[in-house]
Amino acid sequence: MTKYVYTFGNGSAEGKASDKNLLGGKGANLAEMCLLGIPVPAGFTISTECCTDYYANGCKLPDELTDQVLVGMKKIEVIMEKKYGDVVNPLLVSCRSGARSSMPGMMDTVLNVGLSPTTIPGMIAKTKNPRFVWDSYRRLIMMYADVVMEKAEGLEPAMGKGIRKILDEKLDEIKHAKGYKSDTDLDAADLKVLSEAFKILIQKHLGKPFPDDPMAQLWGSIAAVLKSWNGKKAISYRRIEKIPDDWGTAVTVQAMVFGNMGDSSATGVAFTRNPATGDNKFYGEWLVNAQGEDVVAGIRTPSPINDETKNEQNKHLQSMQSIMPAIYKELDAIRTKLEQNYTDMLDIEFTIQEKKLWMLQCRVGKRTGTAALNMAIDMLDERLIDEQTAVMRVEPKQADELLHPILDPETEKTAKLIVKGLPAGPGAASGAIVFTAEDAVAAARAGRKNILLREETNPEDVEGMRAASGILTARGGMTSHAALVARGWGKCCIVGAGALHVDVKSRQAQITGTDIILKEGDVITLNGTNGYAYLGSLPMIDARENPSFKRFMTRFMPMADKFRTMGVRTNADTPEDAQNARDFGAEGIGLFRTEHMFYGTNADKPLFFLRKMILSKTVEERKVALAELYPFVKASIKKTMEVMNGLPVTIRLLDPPLHEFVPQGAEKQAELGRSLGLSAEEIRERGEELHESNPMMGHRGVRLGISYPEVTEMQIRAIFECAAELNKAGHKCIPEIMVPVTCDVAELDVTRKIVDAVHNDVMKRFGLILLEYKYGTMIEIPRAALLADRMAKSAEFFSFGTNDLTQMTFGFSRDDIGEFMNDYLEQKILAADPFQTIDQDGVGQLITMAVQKGRATRSNLKVGICGEQGGDPASVEFCYKNNLTYVSCSPFRVPIARLAAAQAAIKAKMGAKAKS
Ligand code: PEP
Ligand code: MG
Repeated sequence: MTKYVYTFGNGSAEGKASDKNLLGGKGANLAEMCLLGIPVPAGFTISTECCTDYYANGCKLPDELTDQVLVGMKKIEVIMEKKYGDVVNPLLVSCRSGARSSMPGMMDTVLNVGLSPTTIPGMIAKTKNPRFVWDSYRRLIMMYADVVMEKAEGLEPAMGKGIRKILDEKLDEIKHAKGYKSDTDLDAADLKVLSEAFKILIQKHLGKPFPDDPMAQLWGSIAAVLKSWNGKKAISYRRIEKIPDDWGTAVTVQAMVFGNMGDSSATGVAFTRNPATGDNKFYGEWLVNAQGEDVVAGIRTPSPINDETKNEQNKHLQSMQSIMPAIYKELDAIRTKLEQNYTDMLDIEFTIQEKKLWMLQCRVGKRTGTAALNMAIDMLDERLIDEQTAVMRVEPKQADELLHPILDPETEKTAKLIVKGLPAGPGAASGAIVFTAEDAVAAARAGRKNILLREETNPEDVEGMRAASGILTARGGMTSHAALVARGWGKCCIVGAGALHVDVKSRQAQITGTDIILKEGDVITLNGTNGYAYLGSLPMIDARENPSFKRFMTRFMPMADKFRTMGVRTNADTPEDAQNARDFGAEGIGLFRTEHMFYGTNADKPLFFLRKMILSKTVEERKVALAELYPFVKASIKKTMEVMNGLPVTIRLLDPPLHEFVPQGAEKQAELGRSLGLSAEEIRERGEELHESNPMMGHRGVRLGISYPEVTEMQIRAIFECAAELNKAGHKCIPEIMVPVTCDVAELDVTRKIVDAVHNDVMKRFGLILLEYKYGTMIEIPRAALLADRMAKSAEFFSFGTNDLTQMTFGFSRDDIGEFMNDYLEQKILAADPFQTIDQDGVGQLITMAVQKGRATRSNLKVGICGEQGGDPASVEFCYKNNLTYVSCSPFRVPIARLAAAQAAIKAKMGAKAKS
């Protein structure tokens, strides 16, 4: 018989923190807190295995679950000294989801389960608080109808108006009729009437009665939580976060404790350190006389838990530290105990029921890149963690966040402030205002930067939040779902901007106390680091001015490098890029694309001679044009080599199809014609002759040199003369000549003859005895990978050109894939875009094979990667596992690749240790 139910409570538990896969994060951590002697209401967790079995059996609960749940309920009853469904002393439970990795707010929860007309009198007698009991009952009816009876049943609300909205409107109607301002004005009698009205509406709209039998409520809630694993928002979130669909959720059933039993009760959410900055200060929010969801749903702006973390928005509110000092002290002690135990920053949920503190949840908290960095270094200094752990604490994508631009503080001083809120996700973002998640997605698809403005966000907005460049909400605190999710993604986000009033219908927002009206399409700028929003698009400055970035580069990265064994180079084609990359720690250039000197500023002259060369009809004509082009090619290579000052520089021979460079406009055609003694018409015709129907597979790369050896010769001469001049001037410089688009060793042999001849000539002319260099090839055609053993006979190094290798392995045109890649991702045909992250199953096999075959021929073969995937953390790890010598990526991704490579080495070390 499979064991599905694991109990906890009263200082003991069947499980611990490391059982996340089985019990989900929530279940495992509740068990751990029990073991630590922290007060946790008793409960049990139904394992994730039950969820997978449930789906495998066509959404049927396993038979053996019934008895196990009943035994679990008995245990709760014994510990809590209450009885489920009892008339006199009833126990109420909550039913919560909990996956292996946290999915904040993406799945469903039902609270107050077990309250019914039979148990209500007992509850009232016990609590002597009829208002509280009726309030709990109406909350149960509302949640149950929404989660169990509508969402879990997959009912699509008529005209987009779900049952929750209908019930909410009823609540407003009664409030209005009575002249009440707030929910708390409703008394017990009102809430009783409201509950009855809710039940009638449920029967009317959902065609079924609300179940007043506690057992029916329990099983309905368990099944609904399981079903919420496959709810729309959970699926979206999993796709974004790459959480596998087959993990399943656990379900935790736990005795209810109440934060809404009057002024000696409260509920709150806290982080053991500041999740936005990493400051070692207890940081949290709480609400007196409220239930947990009230804090995270962002409906009321919560108060701070202590005085030292008060901010602009909540400084007038009373802290827990000042109102309930003893309980605050107890909570603070739990904070320390938890951090010592988990050696990490935790996100905790607690409830105070009539002055008794209960912990309802703890989990490792989501944090910004800045916070991750600061916490890692601080915890290392506090000796809570070691260096290796510290390095693992900053995700490579968080390092990316530290490289994001920030607002220029000077311009910010004079910018027009529109509203202030809470700094929930740092960095800066500007864009055109949108008012719905759908509009944010549409704008992002069309390549428009946008800022999503919402009254409050809820998990349904997840796709839009992802698509937006920044998020601004009127309500919610630092622990609201919007803040949590944005922080996890490193997104610029401001929440709780109280003066903002959003009217989605008219696509307008007003700022109270001002005459500012924001309309759809208006451009605004957010500073997520201080919570200020401005009109217009403000200039941003380089992330390198950011103090966190400096700490990252000077303190954190050198520590990470201690663990790294694989090299990190850069793809750079200009001295500026090369310098940037060096500043970011690049150890060489893995790809210098020669053709880039023909684009951008100062490209006019070399481009003119290149065009002349392309349009030449005879070898003689071509040689004249090449001689004119030569000094430009040489200067471009030399400047970059100088910057790299002794570090390896891989120069790739000309790659793109020639027709790309034929002038298109009549004026340019005429100018070129005059210089070549040709008519514009002849130029146009020559361009047409060069046209290829499939240029990506056309006359490019090594093939150009096979047809026109003089083109190769000119480039090789430029490279060697640069190297010779630099060597003579006392610089160390070992060029690496890389031949692109090869598919056979014979191509390499033919090219090598030119290389040898020019090398000898340059040596002689410069009077050198030795001019060191390396000769190698890109592996970017599947045939080259298949025949890598032969390629390595001529090549001293390989560099995987995974852009073309992916293109040719999939047969997907890299230039046109944008049209349909989303369809492949949405229909889950592919798990990820293979042009962003290496397709380890397919393209990866070619890489693994080519490395092995290449090294079988030449054991010291250097192998790198220079496709775009070289800066993607998962691809870096794959390269590490395949023993690549280095990865090469664009300058701004160099720190990310360094960190990913260090982490890959640490993971391998940890894996080897675990095995032995
Ligand atoms: C590649 O194909 O991966 C590569 C680096 O070359 P390019 O992108 O210039 O074709
Ligand atoms: Mg290529």
